Amino acid sequence: MKFFTPLLFLLVLSSCDKQEKVDLLIVNANVYTVDDKFSIADAMAVKEGKIIAIGSSEELKTKYATLKTLDVEGKTILPGLIDAHCHFFGLGLQQQKVDLTGTKSFDEVLQRIVDFQKEKKVSYITGRGWDQNDWEIREFPTKEKLDELFPETPVSIRRIDGHALLANQAAIDLAGVTINTPFSGGDILKKGGKLTGIFIDKPMGLIDSKIPQPSTKEAAQALKDAEKICFDLGLTTVNDAGLSREAIELIDSLQKTGELHIKVYAMVSASPQNLDYYLNNGIIKTDRLHVRSFKFYGDGALGSRGAAMRSPYSDSPGHFGALVNDLETLRTTAKRIADSNFQMNIHAIGDSANHLILQTYKEVLKDKKDRRWKIEHAQIISPEDFKLFDDIIPSIQPTHATSDMYWAEDRVGPDRIKGGYAYKDLLNQYGKVALGTDFPVEKVNPMLTFYAAVARKDLDNYPKGGFQMENALSREETLKGMTIWAAYSNFEENEKGSLEIGKSADFVILDQDIMEIGIEEVPMIHVLETYVNGEKVK
Ligand SMILES: [Zn+2]
Repeated sequence: MKFFTPLLFLLVLSSCDKQEKVDLLIVNANVYTVDDKFSIADAMAVKEGKIIAIGSSEELKTKYATLKTLDVEGKTILPGLIDAHCHFFGLGLQQQKVDLTGTKSFDEVLQRIVDFQKEKKVSYITGRGWDQNDWEIREFPTKEKLDELFPETPVSIRRIDGHALLANQAAIDLAGVTINTPFSGGDILKKGGKLTGIFIDKPMGLIDSKIPQPSTKEAAQALKDAEKICFDLGLTTVNDAGLSREAIELIDSLQKTGELHIKVYAMVSASPQNLDYYLNNGIIKTDRLHVRSFKFYGDGALGSRGAAMRSPYSDSPGHFGALVNDLETLRTTAKRIADSNFQMNIHAIGDSANHLILQTYKEVLKDKKDRRWKIEHAQIISPEDFKLFDDIIPSIQPTHATSDMYWAEDRVGPDRIKGGYAYKDLLNQYGKVALGTDFPVEKVNPMLTFYAAVARKDLDNYPKGGFQMENALSREETLKGMTIWAAYSNFEENEKGSLEIGKSADFVILDQDIMEIGIEEVPMIHVLETYVNGEKVK
């Protein structure tokens, strides 16, 4: 602090000189630039939202004049963090739902719903985050107790992975579903000739379609709530994996009126109408919004045994999971997208889904260059399929590994698990990985992604040596996956993802040096300040 006054004096004195004026000068910092050489700088000059110089404090102080100098006293600065696969709007909407994550029993689930409804008194209760694998009785719940508590009010609560839901009778009646309702691409569970209330994958749509839509005002509030959560944790760009045209247009209008500052890479939900609309109208690119990709679903999730496997589940004989879309339709659509400039992103978890989608990609992208198509999750890969990622980007979520590691081997057995959550093997194929969280499936905090990728342990330091450590990423690889490689996966590596001259001044200031402190301390790192286009947003 004692250097601060002379520094200011010096700046004021010399500012009449022929120094260039800048909006912000950051000095005395430990800046990981994440440039090609992964170089470290200690000062940065920002003008009109862009970085115009990066180097040493002495050099920049001599060269530039500013009214705003920030001496960060040696603290660490990173490029603004990017979550390459998340549900940003969903996170906002979730703030209006019952949070069921971390429940230790179905009774606790019921209690939280009762508490929520006492306060909010909504006409349709929705919730998300239960996981029967965390309960003493590891079985899907049934709806009887919900029917007793809420005979009139519809209730629909989703499993943590979003691939199964429990509905009460009021919600089932509203959807017009009976024991005889036909379905495909998933399951409607029955017991003793009655519906249990559990819907898996595609049939969930029967219930979902009757949930009332939020108003424009509620949707705008949801986006602002989500933005605050993200900025507090250091995220400056979010790749929303599945947005409607309405949501995209709302984001665009809020960004244009200055009500929303976060940058959004929108993956458009691949409905036939959205495909027609966006393919006809072309890519949208503004300073904060980029619409150039479609999000599809290949299969379900591993936890609910919806992921499509080439051989039966190890803990459910004869059960393979299922593709949720017809492969022929997917191939035809892929051809159509390949003929445009749009990117295709498909959710694939099981080894069969990954295999079939990789083959489809290869087929339609033959002779096409630099299309950067992605597989979202790339969770269980057959050994012979890794090489197919040579020109397909793996978009992966390290916290999925440390959330699933307790039971994933039960599902797929000791051999197939070796190709599971195989982040280093995937990195070795493509040369880059795009890292994300899939929030709100996982927690938003990017420090947990960093920790999970490097340590491959949970927050209780389990398992001792780490889970399948041959697939751990280095700190440098992890940071790149959360910044420059994620930007690359968005065709945005020339404007963000590293702190270099000409790029956006999107950056975060941390209270600890993430590249140096003990890895077990990383989850406790705090983001002190967050900047987007040189503007302080936290
Ligand atoms: Zn997702």
